[in-house]
Amino acid sequence: MKQKKRAQKRREPKAPKKQARAPRKQAQPQQPVERTEEELVDLTSRVYKLVVERGRDGVLQSEIWKELGLTSRDGSRLAIRLERRGLIGRVKVLEEGRWTYKLTPLRFPTDMASIEKAPCIICQYESKCSVDGEVSPYVCPWLGPWVIEEARAVRARVAEAGPVAAR
Ligand code: SF4
Repeated sequence: MKQKKRAQKRREPKAPKKQARAPRKQAQPQQPVERTEEELVDLTSRVYKLVVERGRDGVLQSEIWKELGLTSRDGSRLAIRLERRGLIGRVKVLEEGRWTYKLTPLRFPTDMASIEKAPCIICQYESKCSVDGEVSPYVCPWLGPWVIEEARAVRARVAEAGPVAAR
């Protein structure tokens, strides 16, 4: 019996020894920059402002990313955010043999100051906000006061300009 067991043991193949592998040199992927929601909304607003400033001819997205020091991944996310809100358009264009996007403003604010104060631009609930959702413009606590404030500011500007401008 003992001999049989010994014979079986001898026949069992040995597990191959693990050899330590030399570490491979690999290109390190670009680490995504962690940003707070506050930083993201601020950047979204800045991207929109820059696109509006470039006017109807639009601007290559890479120019905006360069100006704001954004990675193309972060920049694209912000542009998609603005596109979803209907504030900008993204059109695929071939530029020097490479496909990229041109960003054009779809809506122009009456003045730059008004977009800085618009609650939706900097709203942390924007992605969840819809007309039939739990978070919606109908129950928004910020939209109404902003509209009233804007209307007051416009009225004040018209009154300052005099009766000709009010017509
Ligand atoms: S309507 Fe109100 S809740 Fe909705 S995105 Fe604008 S500010 Fe945010």
